[in-house]
Amino acid sequence: MVSLFSMRVPLLLVLLHAVFGSAYRWFNWQYEVTCEAEKFVTPSDEADVVEFLKNEFPKQSHIKVVGNGHGFGNLTTCVDQSLTNKTSYIVSLANLKSLEINKKNMTVTAGAGWDVYDLINVLKENGLSFNHLGAERVQNFVGALSTGTHGTGRYVDNMASQVVALRIVDARGNVKIINEWNNPEELKAFRVSIGALGLITEVTFKVQPTYLLKKTTTVLNATTNYTQLYTDIHDLYKKHDRVTVWGPHFDWDSEAQDWVIEPTFFASYWEPTNYTGVRNCTLNYCANGCGECIKNYICYDEVSDATSAPPQGVCSREFYAEIEHFWPFENFMDVAINYTKFQQSQTPRMRGFDNQEMIFQYRILKGDDSYMSPVNTYNLGPQNSGVFGVLEIDWIQSVNNYTTLWNNQGFAFEFMDKFGYEYNARAHWNKMSPYDPKFTLSAFPKLPEFLKIQEQQDPNCQFVNDFLVNQLGIDRCKEAIGQ
Ligand SMILES: Cc1cc2nc3c(=O)[nH]c(=O)nc-3n(C[C@H](O)[C@H](O)[C@H](O)COP(=O)(O)OP(=O)(O)OC[C@H]3O[C@@H](n4cnc5c(N)ncnc54)[C@H](O)[C@@H]3O)c2cc1C
Repeated sequence: MVSLFSMRVPLLLVLLHAVFGSAYRWFNWQYEVTCEAEKFVTPSDEADVVEFLKNEFPKQSHIKVVGNGHGFGNLTTCVDQSLTNKTSYIVSLANLKSLEINKKNMTVTAGAGWDVYDLINVLKENGLSFNHLGAERVQNFVGALSTGTHGTGRYVDNMASQVVALRIVDARGNVKIINEWNNPEELKAFRVSIGALGLITEVTFKVQPTYLLKKTTTVLNATTNYTQLYTDIHDLYKKHDRVTVWGPHFDWDSEAQDWVIEPTFFASYWEPTNYTGVRNCTLNYCANGCGECIKNYICYDEVSDATSAPPQGVCSREFYAEIEHFWPFENFMDVAINYTKFQQSQTPRMRGFDNQEMIFQYRILKGDDSYMSPVNTYNLGPQNSGVFGVLEIDWIQSVNNYTTLWNNQGFAFEFMDKFGYEYNARAHWNKMSPYDPKFTLSAFPKLPEFLKIQEQQDPNCQFVNDFLVNQLGIDRCKEAIGQ
């Protein structure tokens, strides 16, 4: 029997924590990534960051810097304080809101506190555009670029590719300035740093004068003849440089306990325009429940409003699991057909759960030479163009429960084991990337160079967590995080 005393002790601890602020529980956006830190630290400026890190270095405290936690994986999990005898902190640089616009160089220097949405609004007010956003603008700017966040376009690269300089504080509290002029090779390591190299306090990135796009959305017919379906989709990428295909879509048939393909889906493509009329893409965001998506329509807008949804363009948020893989675009047909068939082989194990909808989404992205960019081109052969296809599969639930979420996340992990080597596929860092350091090395040949810099920046393993240690194979840090 549970005694009243044993029930009171945990309750008392929770109350003590609440009153004295002695612990901070971190959650990501859909509350499935969580850990308990000693404290949530929000330095007021870079000098404060330096002082904090200098104090914590001799104590070897665990430090996990976070943006807005908009990920589907364990990148932002701290070392839980129940598993360590050192202090564990979650750090947010949300207060670092400096901003300098340099129209002569067409660059913007922003403190690490800026959220993508707010920063883009300031750019727009100043007659500037940023052409590299993801489908939504909910992230912190540094959080987004640190994982290689991207949109779509054969000639459009990810957000991080636009960074020309940054300031970062290492574990000893030293500020380093990394830029294209003095240390261009090092910048390749720091652009996509997945939180492993220190606390970025400021970034300088390229912008351009207001850039307008025409967006055309077109309804397509679906078929379970996947060779036909994907040939049609592939043709769209031959005709247009900048395309997102939202489909095929499948609905969960609860009687048949099976996925049923929807008869139609849609694709959007974007072209530069010098249109001078009303900018109207925000009249139909067509994102996550806002707007009518499966209809033919054309709109014109500034690039961020034409390609990416602001928070007000996101009307529904059910729990969902997601994979996102990048692979050389030449593999398009094989990837599309075989990922679809592999998903179908998983369906019997989805029965009895609260599934609602499954959406496939295809994008295209220019490769780059950032060490840890998922679209790094280092291991491509002469047969590859340097352009990557991007496949996302979303499993959306009818009810927000963890049982279904975890079940679907398990399926998400299986794709990389099955197809990683076969298609030279790489997972988005913040979307269900399974631990496999051997594979990581094959897809990210500059990993050894990255880890050398990681050791210089973080000799006592204060910035790493389970994800980084297991995913990148940072064996020297296993003991430090209690493995
Ligand atoms: C609904 C939804 C839609 C999405 N759409 C897209 C999309 O279209 N395209 C795409 O590519 N991705 C997309 N993503 C993924 C998302 O862009 C990335 O997960 C992004 O990294 C999240 O940014 P964040 O600010 O929430 O960062 P967090 O998840 O909080 O952090 C990400 C990483 O950045 C590090 N970091 C944060 N701040 C700093 C700092 N100051 N210094 C050093 N490191 C730091 C963290 O330690 C962590 O490793 C989407 C995610 C969601 C949930």
